[in-house]
Amino acid sequence: KQYGLNELRKMFLDFFESKDHLKMNSFSLVPHNDKSLLLINSGMAPLKPYFTGQEIPPRKRVTTCQKCIRTGDIENVGKTARHGTFFEMLGNFSFGDYFKNEAIAWSWEFFTEVVGLDPDRLYPSVYEEDDEAFDIWNKEIGIAPERIFRFGKADNFWEHGAGPCGPCSEIYYDRGEKYGCGEPGCTVGCECDRYIEVWNNVFTQFESDGNGNYTELEQKNIDTGMGLERLATIVQDVPSIFDVDTIKALRDKVCEIAHITYQEDANKDISIRLITDHIRSVTFMISDGIIPSNEGRGYVLRRLLRRAARHGRLLGVEGRFLATLSKTVIETSKDGYPELEEKKDYIFKLLTIEEDNFNKTIDQGLNILSELEEELNKSDGKVLSGEDAFKLYDTYGFPLDLTKEILEEKGFSVDEAGFNEAMNVQRQTARNARSTTNYMGADVTVYQQIDPSITSEFVGYDYLEYSSKI
Ligand code: ATP
Ligand code: MG
Ligand code: MG
Ligand code: MG
Repeated sequence: KQYGLNELRKMFLDFFESKDHLKMNSFSLVPHNDKSLLLINSGMAPLKPYFTGQEIPPRKRVTTCQKCIRTGDIENVGKTARHGTFFEMLGNFSFGDYFKNEAIAWSWEFFTEVVGLDPDRLYPSVYEEDDEAFDIWNKEIGIAPERIFRFGKADNFWEHGAGPCGPCSEIYYDRGEKYGCGEPGCTVGCECDRYIEVWNNVFTQFESDGNGNYTELEQKNIDTGMGLERLATIVQDVPSIFDVDTIKALRDKVCEIAHITYQEDANKDISIRLITDHIRSVTFMISDGIIPSNEGRGYVLRRLLRRAARHGRLLGVEGRFLATLSKTVIETSKDGYPELEEKKDYIFKLLTIEEDNFNKTIDQGLNILSELEEELNKSDGKVLSGEDAFKLYDTYGFPLDLTKEILEEKGFSVDEAGFNEAMNVQRQTARNARSTTNYMGADVTVYQQIDPSITSEFVGYDYLEYSSKI
């Protein structure tokens, strides 16, 4: 049976509720009391205090579907079948309660009995030193030893800076030859999209101080994470996360706006998928109170938004289109995230302002960038000067990463040290003449008119706490 994405989310949460887990709502994308993280990037991130014992969890077993942003995957988006900057992570968690036996058995039960996946297509992996997990897969579940893969630290030891960590067991699904790279050694663990990693079961038994020192945690925990979009991809047997029912609806909308057809031009397809992904990130980020700025989370938002706008131009879209797309995001996701519907007017307004702002300068900026490229070609230069990059940033609103990315496509780079220097001069000037109305090109007052409470709070926060992170 073909289950929709929204249905699968519910099936997962209901399943773990039936195993005595407390169903909790997704936490905000903005971390709470956690300066080690700019944006929530996994289901366990907002639950850290429960893992470390700093806070008492409402129950020892919890299940969530957590909104996540991973800007680290930005280069993959549109190019692989399985990466988005935004995705939903399903998870079941044990705080000093059950451990490896139950976690493995339930993941198997969910896959084979609840959603009905073919067991012969599933391949577990374990950390190379974790014989305990190997034996559970082999003896309890009955998987042949040659179907269980042992991987090293890079793949099967979960660690994100300081905090709880431990060995993991990941479950892969073989989508068949048609998705393979065709290389002779292609098997589980290959970077291509045939054996797709779906579920990560982390056996959190250590606490890391971030400097390579591990201490055994008093209580052993379970932290699992499965991309809902990936689950839907294999259950619906579609080529990529961009073909999953709800996400395809969004992709279709992008095509409709651009008057193009999917799968007619490989480069355009990348832009279509990229916009489809980025508008999800942007819509969810705005609904969680993040506003565009040149620092911290606000910068991530602005960069994704402007990157999407530029790819819209590449597809021939003229004028504003992001607010229209966000409507589809809200329509297809409000089931799991009612806050989207509640904040929709605010989301439209903010998107409209930010996009209109960029639209005033984007075409001019792109023209100037083309001219600069030509000059570089003529002079046999390879590096755009920091001053030019700064001018594009300051006058035309091109985030440095956007300029870099456009130039890299043509084999050029940017003098980043020069850019930073120009930026510092600007910063100093702005600091000397600090005003509440304008900081580094972000017209704060415009956003304050939409919602004073949200904007004033977060601008200060971003600027003060996170200015060094980017
Ligand atoms: P990959 O190796 O495919 O990049 P990962 O090992 O980085 O994935 P984990 O950190 O183990 O991913 O996260 C747990 C699960 O979350 C993954 O098994 C996958 O299902 C999902 N996931 C991770 N990154 C993404 C992403 N960028 N887009 C969609 N789903 C993701
Ligand atoms: Mg990854
Ligand atoms: Mg991986
Ligand atoms: Mg993984």
